[in-house]
Amino acid sequence: MAKKLKQLAIYGKGGIGKSTTTSNLSAALSEMGYRVMQFGCDPKSDSTNTLRDGKYIPTVLDTIRERSGVNSRDVIFQGFNGIYCVEAGGPAPGVGCAGRGIITAVELFKQQRIFEELDLDVVIYDVLGDVVCGGFAMPIREGIAEHVFTVSSSDFMSIYASNNLFKGISKYSHSGGALLGGVIANSMGPPYSREIIDDFVAQTKTRVVEYIPRSITVTQSELLGKTTIEAAPGSAQAEVYRSLAKKIAGHTDSRTPSPLETTALREWAGKWGDYLLEMEQGKVSSPGAAI
Ligand code: ADP
Ligand code: MG
Repeated sequence: MAKKLKQLAIYGKGGIGKSTTTSNLSAALSEMGYRVMQFGCDPKSDSTNTLRDGKYIPTVLDTIRERSGVNSRDVIFQGFNGIYCVEAGGPAPGVGCAGRGIITAVELFKQQRIFEELDLDVVIYDVLGDVVCGGFAMPIREGIAEHVFTVSSSDFMSIYASNNLFKGISKYSHSGGALLGGVIANSMGPPYSREIIDDFVAQTKTRVVEYIPRSITVTQSELLGKTTIEAAPGSAQAEVYRSLAKKIAGHTDSRTPSPLETTALREWAGKWGDYLLEMEQGKVSSPGAAI
């Protein structure tokens, strides 16, 4: 029997650590022996560069714009440990749909049966924060990705973006859309950051897959143009990414989340704001306890 291809999509607010986390996840999965493709869907087109020594690759949209008769092989480049890297790219500035690159590339790969030919185990789509545009919703809506994960810190705007994603997932969940695997809690620092995320997943009936600390090892690795798995394989941070990879490799059970209404989310945030203030003033020691 043919093995089952696992397709995952990673969403989250811009700058929250999607590409960093995804690249380390890909690297850790490849270490475990999986055949991985990382598919960058952000028009920034920088998803895969730490898998390729900081070098950028030509994007699908640019390649198609330059010539006709593009073969999948022209837009797939190998990186660390043989990981297949793709960047969908973006439209020319100011024109067209930024989700176009995803749609074009997925269609091209499907037509040319590339996932089968490369004998992939996992494809990870590194997408974007909001799902308002049809192109970016595509991995969810069309059921291309089976499992969706969101990267979020404890910052409100990041939680807000995740809550919006949950709304998108709920909307398509009855028509064969992808379901939520969970939240990857990134840039964890002081204890309250974990408590805020824990409370948010409880409120939305979701779960945290892994807590990833904010770490200087990540910064150092990025400056060297590499993932932490490659640049600092013996570090504690690399172990965290390996733990995330193990959980995701074994993950099967995704669910429909219960997003909060905008006003309810605002109220929820306000309560945490009050508690953090009281904590700072020394009135409470642990913010989570009373909420
Ligand atoms: P996104 O893909 O969501 O836009 P990036 O992955 O490009 O975000 O990350 C943005 C910045 O945050 C990068 O400079 C990256 O090194 C940094 N970063 C992400 N996660 C961590 C972490 N856990 N510790 C330290 N820095 C991080
Ligand atoms: Mg990115």
